[in-house]
Amino acid sequence: MPAPLMTIPSSPALPTEADAVVIGGGVIGTCTAHFLARRGLKVALIEKGRIAGEQSSRNWGWCRQQNRDARELSMATRSLDLWETIARDLDVDLGFRRCGLLYLSDDEAELEGWASWGRFARGEGIDTRMLNAAEAAQRGAATGKPWKGGVWSPTDGTADTSRAVPLIAAGLAAQGSSVHQFCAARGVETAGGRVTGVVTEHGTIRTSRVVMAGGVWASTFVKQLGIGFPQTAARSSLLSVLPPDSRLPAALHTSRVTATRRADGAYTLAVSGLAKLDPTPQGLRYARQFLPMFARRWQLLSLGDLRGWLAGHEGRQSWRLDRPTPMERNRVLDPLPDAAVIETIVHRARQLLPALGTSPVQASWGGYIDSTPDGVPVIDGTVGPEGFMLASGFSGHGFGIGPGAGQLIAELVCGDPPSLPHTQYALSRLTRNARGKVAEF
Ligand SMILES: Cc1cc2nc3c(=O)[nH]c(=O)nc-3n(C[C@H](O)[C@H](O)[C@H](O)COP(=O)(O)OP(=O)(O)OC[C@H]3O[C@@H](n4cnc5c(N)ncnc54)[C@H](O)[C@@H]3O)c2cc1C
Repeated sequence: MPAPLMTIPSSPALPTEADAVVIGGGVIGTCTAHFLARRGLKVALIEKGRIAGEQSSRNWGWCRQQNRDARELSMATRSLDLWETIARDLDVDLGFRRCGLLYLSDDEAELEGWASWGRFARGEGIDTRMLNAAEAAQRGAATGKPWKGGVWSPTDGTADTSRAVPLIAAGLAAQGSSVHQFCAARGVETAGGRVTGVVTEHGTIRTSRVVMAGGVWASTFVKQLGIGFPQTAARSSLLSVLPPDSRLPAALHTSRVTATRRADGAYTLAVSGLAKLDPTPQGLRYARQFLPMFARRWQLLSLGDLRGWLAGHEGRQSWRLDRPTPMERNRVLDPLPDAAVIETIVHRARQLLPALGTSPVQASWGGYIDSTPDGVPVIDGTVGPEGFMLASGFSGHGFGIGPGAGQLIAELVCGDPPSLPHTQYALSRLTRNARGKVAEF
């Protein structure tokens, strides 16, 4: 059974024109469409499958500042507030709660890494607290074991991965905008170096502004526009169980397993970073740039199989706009979870959290996680034709910062002063070095 996901209806008809077209109904595209609509633009949100059918419903739901890259921290902080603002403005419950995130460890190096990040983050005004052994044992009582230490980040939280993005998308209609599911965007039309329209499988929408927020499909899409975007995806496997005991921490990370309470009381269980690298044409094309990242994570990554190649999201071929494209052949990228990984997670979770008992697995699913070589997204309106914006590569932590990213992208699209720093997200940081060496920040 795949990750639970609320379905919403599409708008009745594809518009012939729009102030802006957003391609991709994940958290990034949907939040962007939301903030564009709130600025009074008539937006068409185009999704080849279901809203949030890919990464944005398959993740753990963590909305965190804790351990963020410095380049994303202000966006993470802003996003926590925006989760609440969007829910209030739309009068819906996105399942966002500042439940706090708990990290526990017995590894001195890991604890020192967290302490070092904490020293930096407290200087930025973030409430993050190192736990000594006694405090870790108290907060981690559900594990029934001693810990050397940990971290408690009280203002971070989680949101409901099965409903949050569909609910935001559903709110677009009331703001004069529209949502179109099972409608793949095949490409972008231009004249004189400017965007003039988006060609979809159901017709063309005239527009001067386009945001490409296609997640793992973004690189192959922008290749059609002559843009080289180093991005590749790793396949993760996870599951949910419904424990009989609800006294487990709402969100717990250990190196062996993570557990996150879902809105329905079930728990999502996973092993952080454990993933398969399925070879793909795109992955091979950019392999050299990703080597430093893979080398740092080699203990958790292993070679996958040809499913990723066959799925088509990382193809390198060119396509025509008057024929079906790879996006129409794969409406929802739904990789099978790895059976051995699922078994490992269940075994570790029962060891770590005895209260899980023998609760059966409710659902298990796979998810491709898109990434850039430096683990930070690309948000860039200076690549491609004028009026085109690329927003992808959120590298395993885009759900929590979706609202802040959407607000920033909307500001940039409208030419308004950006309320968050953004030059650190430029694509040029990943492409400027002729030797393929990626800039380290
Ligand atoms: C297992 C796992 C755990 C994670 N845990 C967390 C977490 O706890 N916290 C966190 O912050 N992040 C987490 N992430 C990362 C997070 O889910 C992603 O960074 C985020 O969802 C990316 O959103 P997106 O909108 O860019 O992409 P997606 O959600 O993948 O959406 C892109 C959408 O674009 C559509 N699309 C693509 N091309 C086209 C086209 N041409 N026409 C129309 N539609 C198109 C796709 O169908 C898709 O629905 C996790 C991810 C995974 C897989």
